[in-house]
Amino acid sequence: MSNPQQAGAVVVHGGAGAPKENEDGCVLAARRALAQLEANGDALDAAILAVTTLEDDGRFNAGSGSSLGLDGETIEMDAAIMDTRGRLGTVACVRDVKNPVKLARAIADTPHVMLAGEGAQRFARSVGIPGGAPISEHQRAQHRELMKELAGSVPAMPGVDNRMFERLWNYKTPLQLPKSRACDTVGAVVRDPSGHFAVAVSTGGSAPSLLGRVGDSPIIGSGFYAGSLGAIAATGVGEHIIRHLLARTVYGWIEHGMALDEALKRGVDLFDKNVEVGLIGVTRTEAASYDNQGMPYSKMTQR
Ligand code: ASP
Repeated sequence: MSNPQQAGAVVVHGGAGAPKENEDGCVLAARRALAQLEANGDALDAAILAVTTLEDDGRFNAGSGSSLGLDGETIEMDAAIMDTRGRLGTVACVRDVKNPVKLARAIADTPHVMLAGEGAQRFARSVGIPGGAPISEHQRAQHRELMKELAGSVPAMPGVDNRMFERLWNYKTPLQLPKSRACDTVGAVVRDPSGHFAVAVSTGGSAPSLLGRVGDSPIIGSGFYAGSLGAIAATGVGEHIIRHLLARTVYGWIEHGMALDEALKRGVDLFDKNVEVGLIGVTRTEAASYDNQGMPYSKMTQR
């Protein structure tokens, strides 16, 4: 299945619609991934290191920067990994885990593909993955902004009336409403020198969302996909991405011979302009990124 003698390549993103000024975090993540690729040539290890770097950064909506739930305290995260050596692991709606992407990697070594909620958290502890960091001022500020937006008339989630969240409210504490929605999953795709591909993604979810919400990121073929021709990661509003099975759909176009640049653009163009979406991908010969509302990213190739 692999295609030997290719130069390794890494593409990392910091979330559809996330601030471009955070791009230095993606550059650092891509550099580390490339160094990891030099060290052991395993695309998956490199993709996981890139995503771990962004989870630990604190500015991205993943790991220590994950967006707070509408109650201002709950954090629920999703993550996934997949490669062409047969490893596939995903985690949904997990709380208090420092690096959900490492948990997804550990789940790939169990008899299962996905763990969710409390079981996922307990499994994280049993394999030595520590709890999350205390909530930061950055996370609180993001939450305050979101609450302001929810109180206004512009939909905080494209196509959804803000009052819907009040009506369907399912957190333990009451809703307290007093511009910004979070939609900054992180992801990495890697081609290694032996021609294998890997993808890793991690997110604090899109905000606003009800308690228990799971997005596209841990759903195979929606937020991520890797096959013998390449790897794809998506970012943006999960409820929209899932309906298009976006990552697998884009991969299908590549199977039919479409150039990566064109396939990514076609994927993003499936969505309304007001729905933030971004895609990154690697194939045997290409590495690329495309988005509709700005997205910090970094692309690096081995020499
Ligand atoms: N796709 C993620 C989700 O909906 C969020 C994002 O990529 O920005 O959970």
